[in-house]
Amino acid sequence: MQPQRRTILHVDLDAFYVSAEVRERPELKGIPVVVGADPEGGKGRGVVIACSYEARKFGLRSGMPISQAYRICPQAKYIPPSWGLYERTSEEVMATLRGFADKFEQGSIDEAYLDVTSGAADEQTAVKVATAVKSAVRQKHGLTCSIGIGPNKSSAKIASDRNKPDGMTVVPFRGVRGFLSPLPVGVVPGIGRKTGDFLHEKGISTIGQLQALDGKQLLTWFGKNGVWLWGVIHGEENVEVRQQEMPKSLSVERTFKDDATDFRLVRKEAADGAAELMRRVKSGGYAYRVAGIKIRFRGFETHTREKTLVSHVDDEEPLKEAVEGLLDEFEASGKPVRLIGVRVADIQRSASGPSRLDDWTVT
Ligand SMILES: [Mg+2]
Repeated sequence: MQPQRRTILHVDLDAFYVSAEVRERPELKGIPVVVGADPEGGKGRGVVIACSYEARKFGLRSGMPISQAYRICPQAKYIPPSWGLYERTSEEVMATLRGFADKFEQGSIDEAYLDVTSGAADEQTAVKVATAVKSAVRQKHGLTCSIGIGPNKSSAKIASDRNKPDGMTVVPFRGVRGFLSPLPVGVVPGIGRKTGDFLHEKGISTIGQLQALDGKQLLTWFGKNGVWLWGVIHGEENVEVRQQEMPKSLSVERTFKDDATDFRLVRKEAADGAAELMRRVKSGGYAYRVAGIKIRFRGFETHTREKTLVSHVDDEEPLKEAVEGLLDEFEASGKPVRLIGVRVADIQRSASGPSRLDDWTVT
């Protein structure tokens, strides 16, 4: 049986953080702009978070030390990140994109997969949909994006990066192998520098050379990632676009075996709960703005407290601090504690995206 053919768009906003800034401050248009740490005249610590295409022409890249960027391009406009602006803008754009899709999956703050099969069964119709997506993003949000169109997620994602900014790249639905074959192995999501170096040592630099290998070889090198890789390079990858609903809140609760009379124990359980909660927050790629606790004393007397933070965050420290502070008022009561819970709410996509696949471990 033939697997059902899908039509997938991978939409990637162009230089998203910088574009969001330029939209707010048109005087930044057309000049080298760097979002990142304060360069402090070349002595600054920290890194470039994002840079405009004009800055990239000077060789600036995200992840580069800000001091190095400043040496290369002191005339660039250096601005600190405005996470609130990026999150808000992303949410608005994603809402627009969602409207075009049968199924919608946000990949990170600035990219998403749209399954548009019902309205676009072939490449030609898909191009029309993608054109409509691009013009909606431009008109409603003043931003440009690049779109890859393919019969599966991996080929669409690879394609969206082929022609940036403001580009559109179509993978022939019945010719994925041929499309991928001349491309360097590094374009495959999951093949980072380490895996790339390993393959280069084996004399493999293009996807075509990977395609020529026996599947068993990939299995030996990469374990179960090798199975996935085989699917990707042969155009057989068939992972569904997964419609995700954002949880409204996440929480953990612990009931003491024996009601706790030592409040240090309550604090310790709360801290452990916060750590566990943060693992879920991170793996979901979320950020939170509300941190809360729930405490239940012997006899079922239950209280909840929460604290709203200044902005959305995706690290553990603000949660721990808030939990510590919220517990203070209950410490003096001296009542035995039956249950302690920790909660985060007002959840959004994290600006840094879901924790990504690390470079594959070569086995
Ligand atoms: Mg992008």
